[in-house]
Amino acid sequence: MQPPRPANPPPHVYSSIGYDRAAARRLDSAWLRDALRAPDTRFLPMHGLKPMFVEDETGPRACFVDAAALAGFRPDPPVLLGLVEGRPVFAVDLDGEEVAGGTYLELRQATAGLPAVEAGLLAFARALAHWRLRNRFCGACGVEMTTTQAGHARHCGACGFDTFPRTDPAVICLVTHGEHCLLGRSRHFPEGMFSTLAGFVEAGESLEQTVRREIEEEVGLVVDDIHYRSSQPWPFPQSLMLGFRATAPLVPPVVDPAELEAARWVHRSELVDPDKRPVRLPNPDSIARFLIDEWLYGEGSCGSG
Ligand SMILES: [Zn+2]
Repeated sequence: MQPPRPANPPPHVYSSIGYDRAAARRLDSAWLRDALRAPDTRFLPMHGLKPMFVEDETGPRACFVDAAALAGFRPDPPVLLGLVEGRPVFAVDLDGEEVAGGTYLELRQATAGLPAVEAGLLAFARALAHWRLRNRFCGACGVEMTTTQAGHARHCGACGFDTFPRTDPAVICLVTHGEHCLLGRSRHFPEGMFSTLAGFVEAGESLEQTVRREIEEEVGLVVDDIHYRSSQPWPFPQSLMLGFRATAPLVPPVVDPAELEAARWVHRSELVDPDKRPVRLPNPDSIARFLIDEWLYGEGSCGSG
């Protein structure tokens, strides 16, 4: 039997795939003015963090409309997401009003089956919306800020402070020992689910130091042989997951109950058959699942750590 390919290979879902971010256009006011009126420009309606979807025979698809469909709405200034096949695409918050046939949904409720270009655009729109909602007022003087750079900056007219979207780096690591891998369970996970270990990077830390610290804190193991694998934007709400693999001695994990509910070593043979797994693995859209599948089914799966 052919082993399955790892789910969600890099560039991972929610990355910028298949579109041009067109960063230089964010400051080009003449181009933006024309783009907002052009008949082939597309707008993604948003309500807070939720993009609008329409249903087709494959399930939910991102709902993109033209400027004419927004006549009668009074949206906030549109946010430039980029160019898809040369056509400008903007996100626009309609404050809960619905375009005919569309429904607002949480992005992760609708990811399965979304084309990669749509998942990337929607993740980008969600990340910017979250940043905008949390940065209404100036962090230096408290005055309400205005949006600039086609939605990619906020400016304080009182003190001149500018702020830009932030991304929080977090490491995520599959720990292995030969034919075993270590999986942990947070109390927030769905029933039966175990995953890789993860944690946020602290100020003054390298990524490798974060991997070592987090794993030692969570399960009491000292890891070695730390290797970077790939990264995934994770706009839930504003992380960048940096994926690693590391090795540790095959000794029982000592779980910190403040961090995890449980952790266990699982043998490769227990995970290979999806119908016989003793644990539920993370969703296929996550880099956590990729790191596990890559070890199980991808390169390096023939007995290496
Ligand atoms: Zn200010």
